[in-house]
Amino acid sequence: MAGLVLRNVVKKFEQSTVVHNFNLEIEDKEFLVLVGPSGCGKSTTLRMIAGLEGISSGEIMIDGKLVNDLAPKDRDIAMVFQSYALYPHMNVFENMAFGLKLNKYPKKEIVQRVKEAAKILEIEHLLERKPKELSGGQRQRVALGRAIVREPKVFLLDEPLSNLDAKLRVQMRAEIAKLRHRLKTTFIYVTHDQTEAMTMGDRIVVMKEGFIQQVDTPMNLYNQPKNMFVASFIGSPA
Ligand code: ADP
Ligand code: MG
Repeated sequence: MAGLVLRNVVKKFEQSTVVHNFNLEIEDKEFLVLVGPSGCGKSTTLRMIAGLEGISSGEIMIDGKLVNDLAPKDRDIAMVFQSYALYPHMNVFENMAFGLKLNKYPKKEIVQRVKEAAKILEIEHLLERKPKELSGGQRQRVALGRAIVREPKVFLLDEPLSNLDAKLRVQMRAEIAKLRHRLKTTFIYVTHDQTEAMTMGDRIVVMKEGFIQQVDTPMNLYNQPKNMFVASFIGSPA
């Protein structure tokens, strides 16, 4: 059974439909990439899955359970945004612990989870620092850490690397790939960068103007693009 299912999901803002009949089944531990030009509805789709945005019609199911009306905190989902605002007055440890404290985890478990996440992300030596004392890449790791400590079933990342310079972006891509192999988590990763999509995804969803164009493995997308849009977006020799 697919862990996360979207069935005929539609999103309208006033009169305009920005996501049309979105149908997708995402397997547990899959790394799914959502790719498409700016404005095609990627962030809106993630926000609906996270529960940050209501859906106009359709169904979202997690483990066979309808979550349409569940609050974000009850969905076992964590999201990392493009602009990863850390709390400036808190140090790295406190930033990572914040969500767990809110959810009233025992102190011992908070410490254990933060340390474990810090180890995975190699930021153990930075736990006492404030965000302003960190580099861009280090801040991004903290933002990832803040999401990992919750050990969510589904991890949503919305263009998490787009504020980093090219060199760091390549490095962080590798970090996320490593992370993915260590965690028992399903990833949905949004990007408008074809290279990122092709190198990271088990499967890729290509979107255009709110419609899914094709869902397939990087290899199949490249070899058998369904239309000109997919071909040109993926860079196939079609
Ligand atoms: P992407 O993440 O692919 O760049 P978005 O999901 O952010 O695209 O946006 C998809 C479309 O929905 C865009 O046309 C955008 O202007 C519109 N949109 C997004 N959020 C809102 C909103 N809160 N109100 C009205 N229109 C919105
Ligand atoms: Mg977006």
